[in-house]
Amino acid sequence: MDLGIKGKRALVCASSKGLGRGCAMALAAEGVDLVINARGAEALEATAAEIRAAHGVEVVAVAADITSEDGRARVLEACGQIDILVNNAGGPPPGFWPDWERDDFIKALDSNMLTPIALIKALVPAMMDRGWGRVVNITSASVRSPIGQLGLSNSARAGLTGYVAGTSRQVASKGVVMNNLLPGSHDTDRIKSLTEATMKREGITMEEAVAKRNASNPTGRIGTAEEFGATCAFMCSQYAGFMIGQNVLLDGGAFNTTM
Ligand code: NAP
Repeated sequence: MDLGIKGKRALVCASSKGLGRGCAMALAAEGVDLVINARGAEALEATAAEIRAAHGVEVVAVAADITSEDGRARVLEACGQIDILVNNAGGPPPGFWPDWERDDFIKALDSNMLTPIALIKALVPAMMDRGWGRVVNITSASVRSPIGQLGLSNSARAGLTGYVAGTSRQVASKGVVMNNLLPGSHDTDRIKSLTEATMKREGITMEEAVAKRNASNPTGRIGTAEEFGATCAFMCSQYAGFMIGQNVLLDGGAFNTTM
């Protein structure tokens, strides 16, 4: 299926690895030129080279911390005209609710709420002027169903979700489609470190922790970055024009609910 976005240009934040990389790869497969970003230059350049080789699109790689003002400024400077924005950044660390202080919350809010909002404010007005744009914010299944040890993430992402709910409806008439994509467990470095934390906390082996994690999902497995990227690409496509302010949960049915 041709998603109708060949020749568009996307900024995919935090995309040298994992879910961001999956989104970048899927957009490139549709002929979308890219600006990709991560802090570590080596993995970022390797991903950029892989995408260029696989799909022949233009890929500009900017090594910068997207959660810092300076990092965002450098990324935006390299952007040019952006039609598609995929917001992403590393998630806050796991922990225990009485331990989190104001500074921990400020850091989480900066990374997972205020950074995507700053990028939306920087890029969406020009999309509205041109009458076409797509924004996908990578949040988390924890917005729908809280994960206790990820309280910092639950809180910051719920804040972004509230912002997107209102903002998406204010920009829709100008052709800008803004939604959130909520990953459940996917096979990335992030999930490896969370599984390791479970192993240590429960005093079990890695194999046991993986088996326990997989068994808890109706599909008996976790998702892949490719599956995640394909869903993101659809949400950025010409066909997503009537999908506004939605929270698309991609979790293999882990969240047990009728609707
Ligand atoms: P990942 O595999 O650890 O990849 C994270 C990517 O983001 C890397 O390319 C990393 O590169 C980059 N990055 C991290 N912090 C950054 C920053 N401050 N500025 C720029 N780039 C940054 O993580 P993931 O699993 O893809 O997760 C992506 C997001 O989805 C996270 O917020 C995570 O909490 C959320 N999530 C993931 C899952 C899952 O199952 N994987 C589930 C729910 C939610 P550098 O380290 O070089 O910067």
